[in-house]
Amino acid sequence: MKRTITTEKIPIMLWLDTLEEEALQQARRLANLPCAFHHIAIMADAHVGYGMPIGGVLATIGAVIPNGVGVDIGCGMRAVRTGLTALEVPVLKKMLTALRAAVPLGFKHHKKSRPLEVMPDPTEFGQDLPVVTGEFENARRQIGTLGGGNHFIEIQQGNDQRIWLMVHSGSRNIGYRVAGHYNELAVRLAKQTGKDAIPREWQLATLPLDTEVGQRYLREMEYCVAFASANRSEMMAALQEIVTDLTGCDQFDDPIDVAHNYAALETHFFKEVWVHRKGATRAFAGEYGIIPGCQGSRSYIVKGLGNPLSFMSCSHGAGRVLGRKQAQRVLNLEEEREKLDKKRILHSLRHRRDLEEAPGAYKNIDEVIADQQDLIEIAVELQPLAVLKG
Ligand code: 5GP
Ligand code: MN
Ligand code: MN
Repeated sequence: MKRTITTEKIPIMLWLDTLEEEALQQARRLANLPCAFHHIAIMADAHVGYGMPIGGVLATIGAVIPNGVGVDIGCGMRAVRTGLTALEVPVLKKMLTALRAAVPLGFKHHKKSRPLEVMPDPTEFGQDLPVVTGEFENARRQIGTLGGGNHFIEIQQGNDQRIWLMVHSGSRNIGYRVAGHYNELAVRLAKQTGKDAIPREWQLATLPLDTEVGQRYLREMEYCVAFASANRSEMMAALQEIVTDLTGCDQFDDPIDVAHNYAALETHFFKEVWVHRKGATRAFAGEYGIIPGCQGSRSYIVKGLGNPLSFMSCSHGAGRVLGRKQAQRVLNLEEEREKLDKKRILHSLRHRRDLEEAPGAYKNIDEVIADQQDLIEIAVELQPLAVLKG
């Protein structure tokens, strides 16, 4: 941990030296929530988010906060180690072409519904999931699709002399709907309850868990976490098939799959609490996690140390230094392309608008890893070979 800030209520612990003023103010507001427990943890990749910083960890008792989970519920990473030791550029190019044909990118979806078996079953999450039920048929055409800009599929070379496959995606439209719907309900509830409520401009509307609506949010949120994981699994399966077709290799280790936008019931400091990880990864002792860098930088497979001070969490990536619009404005397309070309990475940086996902838009991953030595240890270092962006 780097430093602690005291507030009128619980403290804030930070795993980074500098944090934008706006994100710091968001952390202070979290610390002042009546439902917040023990302290607020701010990870090494933190930056401003909607209501709560991305890279923030909040534990609550008796209530959940839709904006503390984020709009892309269940967004996360999946990584698989293959039996391959190396890949040549011509084969990588063929893989990208085949992948573009197999996986709809950006806001595209499948033309036909996917079989029911690939969808998580809503009845396993309880009765009455109205938003999920309403979106279910659309979601059957969205499972196995990448989604927008920040999401990616990458083929990497590990320092364990193996080729790795990595997928970053979330719950597509279904999670977005659930997030919006319940935040809206939480805002309405706050209006009804009156003057002691949390100021509206904090964007941290809360759902008490002794209400039907709070319980319903949990069920729908948990469904979306499962859907997002199934979504990554579908894309990984498509990629593995392509790898096998083009190389003959059919050796794939069990996947590592981690969500970085969710809330889960866990025990911390001897209490059962709802841990909100918004752009944060679980890092229980001995558990594998995935910390990507950016397009063109190293990524890491890590092993958690189970540090209670971060509610056993770590960063979910390198984190942004430039907002999307800002990146398009201030970065130079030629320079950013050259950084990637020099490293001979097959990248996705073509147009000005792609600059929002250029290397220069993100923090230096090695500094972010160095800031959290008390949370994780490095298991495998991965160099990018080829990347497809949403
Ligand atoms: P999110 O969009 O979920 O908040 O961020 C996920 C993290 O993925 C970012 O913080 C960034 O560090 C990382 N990232 C973004 N684009 C890429 C990419 O193309 N390749 C890799 N390896 N990491 C990326
Ligand atoms: Mn996402
Ligand atoms: Mn994500």
